[in-house]
Amino acid sequence: MKKKRKRKKGKHPTIVDQSVTRLTKLSATLPDRRTGKNIQYQMGDIVKAAFAVFFTQSPSFLARQKALKKSKGRSNAETVFQMKKIPCDEHIRQMLDPVPPEHFYDEFHTILQQTNEQGKLKAYQVLDGNHVLLSLDGTEYFNSYEIECKNCLHRKRNNGQTQNYHTAILPVMVAPRNPHVLALPPEYIVPQDGHEKQDCERAASKRWVKQHAAHYATLNAILLGDDLYANQPLCQHILDHDLHFLFVCKPDSHQTLYQWVDTFIAAGKVDTVSIRKWNGKHSEMWTYRFLNDVPLRSGDDALMVNWCELQITHKETNETLYHNAWATDIAITEGNVAELVECGRTRWKVENENNNVLKTKGYHLKHNFGHGDQYLSMTLTTLNLLAFLLHTVSHLTNKLYRLVREELGRQDTFFNDVRALARYLLFDSWGHLLEFMYVQLEIEPAPD
Ligand SMILES: [Zn+2]
Repeated sequence: MKKKRKRKKGKHPTIVDQSVTRLTKLSATLPDRRTGKNIQYQMGDIVKAAFAVFFTQSPSFLARQKALKKSKGRSNAETVFQMKKIPCDEHIRQMLDPVPPEHFYDEFHTILQQTNEQGKLKAYQVLDGNHVLLSLDGTEYFNSYEIECKNCLHRKRNNGQTQNYHTAILPVMVAPRNPHVLALPPEYIVPQDGHEKQDCERAASKRWVKQHAAHYATLNAILLGDDLYANQPLCQHILDHDLHFLFVCKPDSHQTLYQWVDTFIAAGKVDTVSIRKWNGKHSEMWTYRFLNDVPLRSGDDALMVNWCELQITHKETNETLYHNAWATDIAITEGNVAELVECGRTRWKVENENNNVLKTKGYHLKHNFGHGDQYLSMTLTTLNLLAFLLHTVSHLTNKLYRLVREELGRQDTFFNDVRALARYLLFDSWGHLLEFMYVQLEIEPAPD
C-alpha cells in the first residue's frame, strides 16, 4: 500500500538549496565589467546558470528551461536555482572569463563546515578519531593544440607542435573503506610556477596549504601525497601551518633517510610487525617496519621524520606482491603502524574516485565547456567541483537523496531522471525534486 505523504512547503532547505542561496549573495561581489543601467542578467544568474549545468550534468539544461518557461510561465532555473533570468551560454562565458576561481573557494569550506556540524565528517576520522586525511594530487584537466588562454601551460610534443594544457591540484578528503571523497578547493598550476612538474606541484601545494590550512588544522588534517611531496621545504611549510603529512617516500629520492634506515635494519633495531592474511586464494604475509626520528634529507638542518613501510609477500612462494614506504610527522608505534599505512594507501582513491569520477562519470572535467582568455576554464572547473562536492555531501547529510540514489543504482540513471523531470515538471526547490522522486519510487522505509 502506498502511503500518502504530505509535504510542507519550504520545510528544511537542503544543503544544496542553502548553497544556491549563498551563490546569489556571493555573486554580487564578483568583478563585473559591465557599466550602466542596462544590465539584463545579474552576476548571480550567470554563476548559477553555469553551476546548474554541472549540478544537473545537463549541457542543455538552460535551453530546456527556457522552453519550459515558455510553456508553463516559470522554470526550474528560477525555482530550484533561484535565477531571475536565464542567460545564454555565450553570455555566461563572456561574463565568467574575468572572474578568478578563488571567489568560490570559501563556499567549499562552508559546505564542509555544515557537514561537520551535522556530525557527518565522523565517517572521515582516522587514528582514534584524532585526524582526517586530505589527499593532494596533480591532475591535467585540459589540453589542446588550438585553444589557448593566458593561464595555459605549454609543452613541446614529439610531433614538434606546442600543446597548451591546464593542471590543478584537486585535494579531497578521503577515508579508508569510505567510497565517497569530498572535494576541497582546487589549486591551479599556472605558468609562473616553474618548468618542472615537481616545482609546479610543490609550489601549488604550498599555496593551497597557506590559503586553506586554517580550515583543516582543527581537524588535525594529515596531507597525503606521492614521493614528490616528501620534500623538506613543503613538509616544513605544512608543519608551520599546523597540519600533518604522510607522504610516499622512495629510496632513490631519499638516499640519506634510507642510509639511516639501512643502518638500523643491519643493527636489528627497526621495529617489525607481521600479520598473516588470507586473500581468498592464498595466504599473504603483511610485514610492517618502522623507524622514528630519521632525517628527511642530508645536512644539519634536516627535518626529522618517521618512516614506515609495508611489504606484502606470497606466503608459499615468498614473491613480493606489494611494497611501499612513507614518511610522516606522526609518531609511529606498533599499535598504529597498520592503520597509518592503510591511510597512506588511501591516497590512490584520488586517482580512482575523484579524478576518474570527474573525468568519466558525467562530470565532464575534460570536456571543454568554454576556455576563455583569462580564467574561464578554471572558474568553470571550480563550479564543476563544487557541484561534485554537493552531490557527495548530499549523500552524507540527506536521507532522501541517499535512498533515491540507492534505489536507482547507476549514477547515470539518477541524472537521466533528474534531467527528464526538470525538463517537464516544475519544482520549487532541489529538496522538492528529491521528495518527488522519493514518493514516486515508493521507497520504504519512510525517512525520519
Ligand atoms: Zn588555458
